[in-house]
Amino acid sequence: MTGRLVIAGLGPGADGLITPDVTAALAQATDVVGYIPYVARVADRPGLTLHASDNRVELNRAAHALDMAANGQNVVVVSSGDPGVFAMASAVFEAVETGPDRWRDVGIEVLPGITAMLAAAARIGAPLGHDFCAINLSDNLKPWALIEKRLRLAAEADFAMAFYNPRSKSRPEGFDRALAVLREACGDDRPVIFARAVSTPDEQIRVVPLTRAAPEMADMRTVVLLGSSTTRIVPMTTGDRVYTPRSVPA
Ligand code: SAH
Repeated sequence: MTGRLVIAGLGPGADGLITPDVTAALAQATDVVGYIPYVARVADRPGLTLHASDNRVELNRAAHALDMAANGQNVVVVSSGDPGVFAMASAVFEAVETGPDRWRDVGIEVLPGITAMLAAAARIGAPLGHDFCAINLSDNLKPWALIEKRLRLAAEADFAMAFYNPRSKSRPEGFDRALAVLREACGDDRPVIFARAVSTPDEQIRVVPLTRAAPEMADMRTVVLLGSSTTRIVPMTTGDRVYTPRSVPA
């Protein structure tokens, strides 16, 4: 008997930002699979087995989930934010592509979640209101030279940018280099938003000009947003807001 595999996004942290579809899938699950801190966000109950694993074992985790689903279990793989953004959904499909034929019989459903950059953008205003891109600054899965190339070209194209995994444990100096590349490529003092642990009790949002952005302002719980050349700060007595206009003059 073949079961079901749901790949679900738990959102950035707050319960109110988990979609009803994800809540329903978790209520029906026999098994939940994921990285330790994400599985910790799922309430235990009779009939549910939680399989928490360490980081960097995405393909093993995906294989385990597919095996259980192929054996008839009702499996939910959890990611934070959205499962398709630097997360487990790609790992599951990569495992299917290279794995045994019986995994192709598994019904797989991806349930979206609110990704960190959108939760962070909403908190501060609308910095991603015009064209933007998202870049993972971790060089665990790609060469650093490619990251630098993408930063330069994104700056040249005048995208606003969202940076995930700004500080890689394996390369603590990486974010410092990224900021140096951006300062050179952007050539102005556009706003940088450091959004930490958005929608959790530890949330901290800080806006600084690019020249004052420092590596220690970010950690692994921070998503960093960089404005485009048109991004502006609106001073408000209720807290300054950052937005990027919908239009760019011809
Ligand atoms: N799938 C996730 C991203 C996983 S990569 C998503 O869609 O959000 C992990 C990175 O996401 C972290 O290093 C951080 O940059 C960002 N992130 C995840 N949750 C966050 C939160 N609540 N606040 C700020 N950044 C967060």
